[in-house]
Order: sequence, then structure tokens, then C-alpha cells
Amino acid sequence: MEMKYVSTRGKAEAVEAAQAVLQGIAGDGGLFVPTEIPKADAEFVQSLTELSYADRAKKILGLFLTDYTDEEIARCVESAYGGGKFDDAAVAPVKSVGDLSVLELWHGPTSAFKDMALQLLPRLLSEALKKTGETKETLILVATSGDTGKAALAGFADVPQTKIMVFYPDGGVSDMQRLQMATQAGKNVSVVAVKGNFDDAQGGVKEIFGDEAFAKKLAEAGVRLSSANSINWGRLVPQIVYYFSAYADLVKAGTIKNGDPLNFTVPTGNFGNILAGFYARQMGLPVGKLVCASNQNNVLTDFLQTGYYDKNRDFYKTISPSMDILVSSNVERMLYHMTGDPSGVRGWMEALATEGRYDAGVGMIQRFQNYFWAGWADDEKTKATIREVYEAEHYVLDTHTAVAWTVANEYRRRTHDERPMVVVSTASPYKFSGSVLEALGEDATGDPFVLLERLESKSGTTAPKGLASMRDAQAIHDTNCDKAAMRDEVLAFAKR
Ligand SMILES: *Cc1c(COP(=O)(O)O)cnc(C)c1O
Repeated sequence: MEMKYVSTRGKAEAVEAAQAVLQGIAGDGGLFVPTEIPKADAEFVQSLTELSYADRAKKILGLFLTDYTDEEIARCVESAYGGGKFDDAAVAPVKSVGDLSVLELWHGPTSAFKDMALQLLPRLLSEALKKTGETKETLILVATSGDTGKAALAGFADVPQTKIMVFYPDGGVSDMQRLQMATQAGKNVSVVAVKGNFDDAQGGVKEIFGDEAFAKKLAEAGVRLSSANSINWGRLVPQIVYYFSAYADLVKAGTIKNGDPLNFTVPTGNFGNILAGFYARQMGLPVGKLVCASNQNNVLTDFLQTGYYDKNRDFYKTISPSMDILVSSNVERMLYHMTGDPSGVRGWMEALATEGRYDAGVGMIQRFQNYFWAGWADDEKTKATIREVYEAEHYVLDTHTAVAWTVANEYRRRTHDERPMVVVSTASPYKFSGSVLEALGEDATGDPFVLLERLESKSGTTAPKGLASMRDAQAIHDTNCDKAAMRDEVLAFAKR
């Protein structure tokens, strides 16, 4: 059966998956959602237990991407997860740590969970270009404050018919993040530091996306723009796979019986990761509660407790920077699924855009609470968790995962829900070595490679190759520009 995708705001035509991936966002400003959720029964889950991660991915993606052939999906999946790009044969292994399980999503080339989706999205997009007969090149524009830029660069490098250009704030990313981007090889990649802060970089990119005259100029050069951020369905659908994969692994290990409910705690920013868990549950995977863990930017905790979303509040720079977000875009999809009412969604999103707040109401949030529970942890608690888990289990959590660990335990304490819990781990501790070392009571000063080595000797583990190898890598990109010159950079790169 053909799966169609419609806009959460109800004013765009239904499209097939390839078109949804190409467009990224619907014509009415809404997000694409599937019209129906495919079903996966206990037998389906059982059949996954003996499969590799790539083969699990093929089965699950096939249910959603019905306009892609099995061969196309297989090609995409194998080049995304095969070829030794992930440093663990299981791709997304589940580890038992104390009385929790940890789903490690950071074995990809950039050591953060964004790789799970950004290794696959470029391939889905490349196939979509072929399928729709598009002859123009697609230029992906990204504004990044850290993790997304590198993961997108690594995913799109040398993918046919695509180019990728990443803007980051000059002096506004960590040394390690800057190095990761500056050393990115590939014939179709460009990295530019923008003088200013993240808002300048992001504002500049948004202006370019909204500039029709500029789009025409690019079209004359044979190029169209697209985006790789987490509102794209092609970034969300790969994430459904690892919920099934974790469940299948725990069945196989005998930790749970097929059919038993399993809870997940997810360190959350844009609500993309945890929403994929919701889709898995709607498909029929026996997911119990999805626990939404936030840092001090706890707008989602308040929303999931009261139904009132309000981004008018102080913004905190925390030690879990990938969750420093006040507008969680993917909540929009959840509102749609809970109401099936695009005009309601449109009203809330307009209020969010103009006033920075909306009230979904108590009745609505009770529906959310059937699936989600929410909590948050500040930096002090997060660091204490890193230290405690290290001392008790000799396992080193990164700062984002430590937020989730803290909230998972709070959930268990408060609700007495003793069902097995998976903590979703979104980054290697080596990616945030400074904060992790500090939490462990170690010296956290020095260049990024000194910190890697110090964490290696403290933890008795080895830093991911992708991070350690940058010590010898050549910085290739050293372009910088003013915000006003971003268009010129894009046009020059489009013509290259
Ligand atoms: C992006 C990111 C998150 C947040 O994920 P969302 O899908 O945006 O909720 C959490 N942890 C890390 C390390 C990330 O890079």
C-alpha cells in the first residue's frame, strides 16, 4: 500500500515519501506526517531478533517509504550503516549498566546520535532526486551551534548531486567541534565561520531560504536549496529503527520477553528522538512510558506537565549544549497526532511564532501524558550523576545522557514504575571531555587532545577514532565572512 504524507497544518497537498524528503518542510510551513501508522506485531518484532542492524532498518523503513523499492532502501541502508563507518558491529548496541540498560547511539563517524539519521538522510535524498527526475543539484544549507554541522557534513560528503555548506558562529563552537568541521574532506563540502553569534548564522540562513529572487539566481546555476535539520521526515524515520532494535536485543538477551513493556528515557532538545519512540509505540512495539529529559532549559517539562508552552524565559548555556533549545519543532507533529486537527495546530504554531507561547489545554496534555512523562536536571545534578555512575559501575556517561539518567531515576522513584528502562545515550563522553573530566573531579584544562588522553587514562577506555585522528588531520576550511556576505558565499559555492 502506498503511504502518503500530509502537512500538520493541513494546507498542502499529500505527497509520497521521496517528495517529503526532498522538500523537508511542507508548502504551508507545516511538517510532513504519515497519514497512517504501519503496524508491526509480535511476530515482526521476533523476526528482528536474528537480524543485523542494517537488516532491521530495511524492514522498518520499507513500511514507511513505500515509494522506494527494496533495492533502493537496501542501497541507502548499506552505505549508511555498513562499510565500517560505525565503530561497533552492532551499530546501536545496548549495554547493561546497573539496573538500567543504555542504548548507545554514538558509534558513528562524529560520535553523536545525529549520525544515526544523518548517515541515511543524504542517501534517501539522493535516491529521491533520481526517482523524481530532478536534474538540479541540491545544496544543503546548515547553520550549526555544534553537533549538527559535522554530522551533516560527514553524511553529505561526496553524495552525488548534492552539495553541503555549513555556517557556524566564529568563536562560538568548542575547539573540538571547530576542528571536526574544519578538517572535513569531500569535493562537495564547504564550511564558513560567520562573524557573530549563532543567531546571526541562523538568521542569515533563514533569510536566504526566504529569498525568492536569490532562489531564482541559484536555479539559473542549476541548484536548489534544501535543509537537513530535524523537521525533515527523512531524519525522523531512521530514528524509529533503533527503538525496535533495542527491544529486539533485549528480547534476544532474555532481559525481557517479547510482548513485555519497555520504558525509554530520552535526553531531549527538538523532540525528534523521543517522537521516533512514539511512532514505534504506535506501530505496536510494546513501549511503556517515554520519559522526556531536559536540562535547565526545561520548557518541555513545563509543557508536558501543564499544556502551556512558553518560550519567553531565560536561556541557559548548559554543559549539555545540544539540548539548549527553547522551541522544540517536533512537538508540532505530536499535537497533530493527538488532535488530527490541522487548523488547531496552525493556531498554536501561529501563536508560538507571534507571541512565543500557546496553551494546548489540560485535556490535551492529559492525552500526551498517556505516552510521556517529563523531568529535568540542572548542571550540578548532571555532574553528580556522572560521578556516581562512574564510581558505582565504572561506566562514563556524557553530559546529555547523564541528564537522562538522572531523570530516569527520578521517574522510577516518583512513580514506582519498575518496568525495565532503557536510557537513550546520545553522545560519546569524549565529545564533551572537559565537562566529563570536571564531573569526575579531574583537571579539565588543556587542549582538546590533552583532555581526550586524560579521559582515556581515567576511564580505561579508548577515544573514538574520529575524534583522536583529528590530532593529525589537516584543517582544510578557514573561510570566514560577515553575515551580510553569506549570500555571496552561497552563490560562489553553488557555481563551483
Ligand atoms: C541533538 C541532540 C539531542 C537532542 O535530540 P532531539 O532529537 O533534538 O530531541 C540530545 N543529545 C545530543 C548529544 C544531541 O546531539
